[in-house]
Amino acid sequence: MNKLLDVLRTILLFTRWLIIALILVSLWVWAVQATHAQGVPLVKATHDSFVSYYDIQTHNPALVVYQLEYSHFAGVLKPSGRHFKMDTQLPRPRVKDGDYTNSGFVRGHLCSVADRDSKKSWIKETYLTSNLVPMTMVCNSGPWKAIEDSCRYLAILGHRLRVGRWPLYDNLQNVIQACEAKSVCITIPAGFACAAMCLDCGLRFFQWCPNVGTSHGSGVIQFMNDPRLSILLTNIFGPWCREEYETITH
Ligand SMILES: [Zn+2]
Repeated sequence: MNKLLDVLRTILLFTRWLIIALILVSLWVWAVQATHAQGVPLVKATHDSFVSYYDIQTHNPALVVYQLEYSHFAGVLKPSGRHFKMDTQLPRPRVKDGDYTNSGFVRGHLCSVADRDSKKSWIKETYLTSNLVPMTMVCNSGPWKAIEDSCRYLAILGHRLRVGRWPLYDNLQNVIQACEAKSVCITIPAGFACAAMCLDCGLRFFQWCPNVGTSHGSGVIQFMNDPRLSILLTNIFGPWCREEYETITH
């Protein structure tokens, strides 16, 4: 009788551990699947003057965040025709300055040089590939410049801004890649967005513009929603920014 009880007890103990193990395994599987549903994790590159969340699928930063106040662009220093330097914090294969040569697109900054010309080291940082995006000349010197100017204007008025800038992509079927004889294909955004909020008074700014000149920029654009961005924007700026982002994406 005692022996039978012992056997039963052992079976019960074994079953209990089996159930715990099963629960742990299914939790792990669920976590892995959840991560995959969100896409490949973004790579964070941290610098003195900005933080970049880099997307290894597009070879573009998915988001660049930095603080902007009037003293940051005293305008003392002038950058002189620099090339972009490879950001060694990014995983390989890395996009390099030469991958843009003859691509038909100019090398655009997300954290603008003009926002950072109070320190030599800061200007240098804006020329890191973690801050580089392909823009048409028209976009870079037109609507995107206007958005940049609006942020600087708010800073001149005395607001201490947290700024976020990121590329927007057209629905996957229409994504253009420029690959010709390059080490890494660059993915051409269909537009660019900018969010800014004042850390003192709560003032909010959200604007976007098409990458005018691409076939996307001229027609009807359906921006793709990136769930990774929704999460980041909520964490960094708050739910208002996520809502703004989701109204322009599908
Ligand atoms: Zn303010």
